[in-house]
Amino acid sequence: MNRNFDETTGRKQFFENVDRELSKLIDPATGKVRAELLEHVNCPVCDANSYDPLFVKQGFDFVRCRNCNLVYVTPRLLESATLAYYGDAADQQSMTDWLNVLANPLNQSWQIPYFQEAVNILAKLIPANGRILDIGCSIGLFMEIAQKSGFECIGLEPEPKSREYALGRGLDVRPQLFNDAGFSPASFDAVTMFGVLEHLSKPKQMLADIWDVLKPGGAVMVIVPNVYSFANGALHEQARTFTGRNHLSYFAWDTLSDLFKRAGYEIAHLDTALAGLDAALNHWQFKEPHSSLTLDLLPPKLRALLQDPQGRAQFEKLICDWDMGLRLRLVARKPK
Ligand SMILES: [Zn+2]
Repeated sequence: MNRNFDETTGRKQFFENVDRELSKLIDPATGKVRAELLEHVNCPVCDANSYDPLFVKQGFDFVRCRNCNLVYVTPRLLESATLAYYGDAADQQSMTDWLNVLANPLNQSWQIPYFQEAVNILAKLIPANGRILDIGCSIGLFMEIAQKSGFECIGLEPEPKSREYALGRGLDVRPQLFNDAGFSPASFDAVTMFGVLEHLSKPKQMLADIWDVLKPGGAVMVIVPNVYSFANGALHEQARTFTGRNHLSYFAWDTLSDLFKRAGYEIAHLDTALAGLDAALNHWQFKEPHSSLTLDLLPPKLRALLQDPQGRAQFEKLICDWDMGLRLRLVARKPK
């Protein structure tokens, strides 16, 4: 791919503005986020308070729990500072930029099949015409695709710009946070959270709350970054997924399953998606990871494989099949 995906979709501008916003949180004396904005937290999955430091990025400390292996951020921004970012995003340039990324046709060209796959996975596990709640539905792309497949969807999105976009597409999207939305017990066949769980300060509590609105046998589907993806293994802290303001927990196959099992759910599906090759391949060649992909310095057989579209597709499939895709997709069930 010669075209720079980052520039065309507006990602480059988004990440530049995130960097600018984050630099305002830094105490120049320490190089870390200002202490008055931070709170120490125990492991969000197992509640232990024993961890190994991994790295520091943009003033945030990333650690790994010695008890359950979850990678998480501590100390982290006070919840009030985080909620202010999502709920009062008007003055955050990066939020406007992100909406532009989401609405960009090139970006949607991979998002549509990505959400269609999610609908297909879910469709095997819940009744046709079932009722789905999409928490953090953003611009509503998943809801649109699920509705076309016959499901009834309600979305929740506190961020006003994305919500307005979704409302403009005729979707039933509400502004409340989940706990304020007042849904009846056992009223949904499925609850979905795509790119949400890693943002939550209390993921365990969220799974306990969702339990109540699910019908017996109902499903929760989540998609989260895969901390041990091929791309993260190559890039470590240079991977964009490591962003201490927004992503608080970094799950792997085991820690994600663990979180759901601790909340009483049964795991029904777990796999990985999106190979995320380009940044890793640039980094492999000691180039700027997010620049346009070039293959010239790769070993010749690997280069030939990647230049052949079929070869590349095979390579990408292997990465996902070997659990090294960028995203983990999990469906768990509330027992009947
Ligand atoms: Zn833990």
